[in-house]
Amino acid sequence: MEALKQADQAIEAALRPSAFADFTGQPKVKERLEIAVEAARRRGEALDHILLSGPPGLGKTTIANILARAMGTNLRATSGPTIEKAGDLAGLLTNLEAGDVLFIDEIHRLQKNVEEYLYPAMEDYKLDIIIDQGPNARTVQLKLPRFTLIGATTRSGLLSSPMLTRFGIRERLDYYSSDQLQKIVTRAAGLLKVEIEAEGAFEIARRSRGTPRIAGNLLRRVRDYAEVRSDGRITAPLADKALGILEIDRHGLDEMDKRILETVITKFGGGPVGVNSLAVAVGEEPDTIEEVYEPYLIMEGYLNRTPQGRVATDLAFQRLGLRAVTGRQSALL
Ligand code: ADP
Repeated sequence: MEALKQADQAIEAALRPSAFADFTGQPKVKERLEIAVEAARRRGEALDHILLSGPPGLGKTTIANILARAMGTNLRATSGPTIEKAGDLAGLLTNLEAGDVLFIDEIHRLQKNVEEYLYPAMEDYKLDIIIDQGPNARTVQLKLPRFTLIGATTRSGLLSSPMLTRFGIRERLDYYSSDQLQKIVTRAAGLLKVEIEAEGAFEIARRSRGTPRIAGNLLRRVRDYAEVRSDGRITAPLADKALGILEIDRHGLDEMDKRILETVITKFGGGPVGVNSLAVAVGEEPDTIEEVYEPYLIMEGYLNRTPQGRVATDLAFQRLGLRAVTGRQSALL
């Protein structure tokens, strides 16, 4: 399993676009970041600190790498939970060169004391270091080079406001359309030297829950099937068959999506239901529902957000094989 995971990660890295020209989708985010890069380059300055938020697998790490490359600087990557104490952060920061990018994934999971230690580094490029202990303890201030912090988070709602305001640029990534994912699948197939028809790429794309990482994973599993059970060429019927064996939903919904819709329908009569009650019923955090699951369900027209709460649409009833009877009560078809 571990070997498979490592191989997957290696392929994922190989598929990662290294420049904005190869990065499909997110046109507005891309344009704003391209302008920021160009402006910083012309002035010979480091990029402003950037916060990228959005559900997993939408390209936050990819964009951080593209930005560092476009600025011609190094990227040092770490993640919130791995920085255990202020000293770990000091180690990272003092190793940066001017203009370097420090990428902190899952920045919402930074410990409070580490986060507070980061503020003066982000704002004034300085760091207070305490040396010695007891009566001899004293603080020395270190000057840091102008660096760029790129933070990534799936849960921007958990970031404190002092942290949020220290990012000059804040961008949220959205789920991708099936057309955009089809392009991403086609490009990845080219890199993996897999023969794929446009309809085959589309079949994989529309079942990928709007997420490039899932699209890449499904492409690799479909390729396995095509090589073992067929001539290696991915057509739409072949992709459908392979994805059926993998029990991938025809509409790209995952287990939690289905559980949320089923709960709204069967436990709350189709809604409206408040996000807190829904969260308790499905056993998930309210902000994860709000920031990770709901945006996709709303985009695809399964759920509406109303002032009274979340409401399942007719499409949700249909897709789950449930129908509304007597108002919004549900029953098995
Ligand atoms: P995140 O950091 O948001 O979890 P990543 O940047 O690690 O997501 O992206 C996951 C995978 O999806 C990577 O293999 C990357 O190559 C691919 N990917 C993400 N966004 C795009 C895109 N816009 N175009 C092509 N591939 C993408």
